[in-house]
Amino acid sequence: MNPGHVTLVGAGPGDPDLLTLKAARAIAQATVLLVDDLVSDAIVALASPSARIIQVGKRGGCKSTPQAFIEKLMLSAARDGETVVRLKGGDPFIFGRGGEEMEHLRAAGIPVEVVSGITAGVAAASSIGVPLTHRDHAQGVVFITGHSRRDGGATDWRALAATAHNARLTLVIYMGVSGAERLQDDLLAGLPADTPVAVIQNASLPTQRQLRTTLGRMAQAIASEQIGSPAVIVVGDVARAAQLAGDLGLPADTQIPPAIAAAQA
Ligand code: SAH
Repeated sequence: MNPGHVTLVGAGPGDPDLLTLKAARAIAQATVLLVDDLVSDAIVALASPSARIIQVGKRGGCKSTPQAFIEKLMLSAARDGETVVRLKGGDPFIFGRGGEEMEHLRAAGIPVEVVSGITAGVAAASSIGVPLTHRDHAQGVVFITGHSRRDGGATDWRALAATAHNARLTLVIYMGVSGAERLQDDLLAGLPADTPVAVIQNASLPTQRQLRTTLGRMAQAIASEQIGSPAVIVVGDVARAAQLAGDLGLPADTQIPPAIAAAQA
């Protein structure tokens, strides 16, 4: 029998309209799908009625499936000749463990294709009119996790904050809301307290919520608005442009920079 193959597919931030055509096609053609948390039901519904769908996320309050088990499942399905799709929220290679899965499969001789998706940080920012690299305000953007691995490699947030300030970089922090207090303290070592911050939960979904505040008030704003996971935090001057009702924490005379206002018009 021909060995099957695996396609790592980015499902985007949640709204099925933000799926790529290539992703939709791969989902429809799959005979086996392994589906992560954060992939909406409307996207899973694009699968063939005869496909086997395996939920490997934390839904229903269960613990998530161990990574090694997911990799084993993919491998055995591919060896059985199945057309396997591994469906992940956002982009498979942005904090999605797609890299590890690809290495594992390739080491076992299974062909792997990757279909990129719109990562949550990008979708979240555009949904509220925040241009992550507006050239008047930022020279670049850093996607970073607020949740460091236990086995060392902790982020030096103070150094990062200083670099972001000096080099004018926007920070897009994934998995950061539960540790917001600590993040705020560390980032304040290198960034001014009035640095604009936007926090977006459930970006692109009907349940989306967001707030705009400043770095000095970030943790308090997240707590008082009860913003929880999944959410991304955008730190930097570009976040001043966030268009939303009920802004928190910014002085009343805060102006949207004219260049951004023009771009939004
Ligand atoms: N591969 C995914 C990220 C997985 S890590 C991607 O590219 O988007 C999970 C984190 O992503 C969450 O903790 C949150 O920070 C972010 N995230 C995922 N979906 C989100 C959404 N719809 N709105 C806001 N943040 C989201």
